[in-house]
Amino acid sequence: MTKQAKSKWNGFSLRPRKEMPEGLWIKCPGCEHLLYKSAIEKNLNVCTECNHHFRIKAATRIKYLTDEGSFQPVLEELTSNDPLGFKFRGTTYKQRIKDDEKKSGQKEAMLIGKAFIKGRGIILAVMEPNFLMGSMGIVVGEKLCAAVDIAMDAKLPLVVVSCSGGARMHEGVVSLGQMAKTSATLAKYDESGGLFISVLTDPTTGGVTASFAMLGDCIIAEPGALVGFAGPRTIAETIKVELPEGFQTSEFMLEHGFVDMIVPRKDMRREIARLIDYCQK
Ligand SMILES: [Zn+2]
Repeated sequence: MTKQAKSKWNGFSLRPRKEMPEGLWIKCPGCEHLLYKSAIEKNLNVCTECNHHFRIKAATRIKYLTDEGSFQPVLEELTSNDPLGFKFRGTTYKQRIKDDEKKSGQKEAMLIGKAFIKGRGIILAVMEPNFLMGSMGIVVGEKLCAAVDIAMDAKLPLVVVSCSGGARMHEGVVSLGQMAKTSATLAKYDESGGLFISVLTDPTTGGVTASFAMLGDCIIAEPGALVGFAGPRTIAETIKVELPEGFQTSEFMLEHGFVDMIVPRKDMRREIARLIDYCQK
């Protein structure tokens, strides 16, 4: 050990202690408590102190929502073709896709497939926040529309769990086009009498809020989720007005009629199953 690596107290090392592996504890952004990670994971990634709902991967969400082993993915291999040859901040969109594939373990920001929730067959679409911030580009738009088409053919309810930074800037107007495409496809599904349950999780913003996420027959939000179009800071800076407390949270949205119900993560399965039964009887 070098001299610099020793602390001023004899016998103590500045190196991290081996018995404290990284990632054993996490700090809750809600209450700032230091929490034991495995205890939070056991609690469906919800803070045991303040009920803060942590962001979770799409695969974890599917595990929490569906009957064990029932999820059968569709169109897993679809990837974006980088229509604009987009470069930014010294890197390329293609490189970012590769990096986020590694980070998220997914090829895109949405997973779709058939599944069961408490024995009820559904078509499920879940967004992946660790893939380009869960943004919607060509592939997300295409997968969402495919999920709607499958639900329409199979006459099954559609459940979409949104978690998104909005439209994907790397695909410019092509990503914005997905807003119209997904909305039009959902309109056809609605005309066919299909049931669409939209679940909003933290965050649901931008072009996703302004298209499919807000088109559910029933819109459910997780507690404390950020739900909005432009972020609160952007709005405050643009209109120079102080925003009301709790602006753009699930609770604020419920109060103002944009959301039908707020359901904690632990009750989500039960509530979706109940809604399916209620709407189809
Ligand atoms: Zn907390």
